Amino acid sequence: IMHTGKVHVALVASPGMGHLIPVLELGKRLVSHHGISATIFVVTMDASLSRSQLLKVSGITDDFLDVVLLPAVDISARVDKTTGILRQMAMMVHEALPSLRSAILAMEVQPIALIVDMFATEAFVVAEEFMMFKYVFVTTNAWFLALTVHGPNLDKEVDQDDHINNQKPIHIPGCEPVRFVDCYEQFLRRNKVYFRMGTEISTADGILVNSFYDLEPLTLAALHDTRKVGLAPKAPVYPIGPLVRPVELSLRGEVLRWLDMQPKESVLYVSFGSGGTLSAKQTIELAWGLENSQQRFIWVVRPPVENDSAATVFKSNGVNNDFLDYLPEGFLNRTCKNGLVVPKWAPQTEILSHPSIGGFLSHCGWNSSLESIVNGVPMIVWPLYAEQKMNATVLAEHIGVATRSKLLAPKGVVGRDAIAAMIQKIMVDKEGEAIRAKVKMLKSCAVKAVSNGGSSYNALAIVAEECKIGMQRRNAKTG
Ligand code: UDP
Repeated sequence: IMHTGKVHVALVASPGMGHLIPVLELGKRLVSHHGISATIFVVTMDASLSRSQLLKVSGITDDFLDVVLLPAVDISARVDKTTGILRQMAMMVHEALPSLRSAILAMEVQPIALIVDMFATEAFVVAEEFMMFKYVFVTTNAWFLALTVHGPNLDKEVDQDDHINNQKPIHIPGCEPVRFVDCYEQFLRRNKVYFRMGTEISTADGILVNSFYDLEPLTLAALHDTRKVGLAPKAPVYPIGPLVRPVELSLRGEVLRWLDMQPKESVLYVSFGSGGTLSAKQTIELAWGLENSQQRFIWVVRPPVENDSAATVFKSNGVNNDFLDYLPEGFLNRTCKNGLVVPKWAPQTEILSHPSIGGFLSHCGWNSSLESIVNGVPMIVWPLYAEQKMNATVLAEHIGVATRSKLLAPKGVVGRDAIAAMIQKIMVDKEGEAIRAKVKMLKSCAVKAVSNGGSSYNALAIVAEECKIGMQRRNAKTG
């Protein structure tokens, strides 16, 4: 890998595909559009993950972009059932710091900046040691960023008690209020790791967010005018999205060939991301809802898990196709003409970009949401955990590219009739026309934003320019 003659930056991705995918895309964008050379450090607990696998998944071939897997971390001896997911994430990143440090030390051309995703701010200490710029990349939306940096500023007694005890909305200056039921669970629990994250994000030299102006105009304007709204970030916020994984032609397998044979915009894609799971009862209702809607579908099914909607976040559950036992009797036979059931994992961006897709029932992970938008696919939002309820509200209410069930309580079961009605609305009914039109419009805004001269392109260009100037200054000092 060549870093000489170029401005070199380092990126750090925390564990989880939902973070890794956008960080890889950011690295690619910096290199291909802005003349930077980049090294992406990947923190993982999966010792079987290989560099070649990652290069293949992300389609990286550029000479100026390298991916380095840090030695797999193992925190199993220090966690138990009570250790929250954010703390685990922070522990994993922390454990990877010595290897990150030595890797940077060993580099011929020292990177001028460290760009970490929002769960890897632990790595900022390394940036400080090496006198590098520190940037944070928020791989979700600006509204969640606003809540996160606003949290540590709140008057703990007054604001939070009002919010939590009286279930009042959180008012973030300049932004839509966050309803109690939508609020990120760690906020409600006053999770120390989460609030520390908010404080650390605010210490960055810049905050990159995977969003764009037309998607979140109000929130981004509020974050832009930091002093006026009294938000915590002293750093400028750069909306640089949507950064999504591009379509891999090599992934054209059975599912894509089946899609080739279906009419235009006739198929609903159903998936709950890399970690989402449903209960057994809900799985059955969903199956009936799909069947009764009489629409075509592709459903990525996981074995049901009770009372844990994030059951597969860091692990896969079930080894074979035992999920078939959980579907209603005869479901596969009755739906085999119209539907395709895929166990556990499907080539999602390839599916969503296919012309036969007409809707997406999604858990609203932010990557999935953006992938839907860039393909102009209207959604049914079915948030499960993490910040997904806020994402769902952005999609369904702030911008109107999705529909949602009023019954989607975290523990309640959504019935088959309600599901069939939502599917018909999004796919065929006149009622869903405005939603379908809006998402198509937003698709063209998204394309513009990341093209040469677009708002997100220009925002990233500013960051790249800062790095170039920083590098020149450093060279002038040392040279
Ligand atoms: N994904 C996929 N196939 C699947 C499920 C997920 O390719 O069966 C990809 C999806 O395209 C997205 C990422 O995994 O890029 C999931 O990220 P997201 O933020 O949507 O949700 P998370 O999995 O982090 O909850």
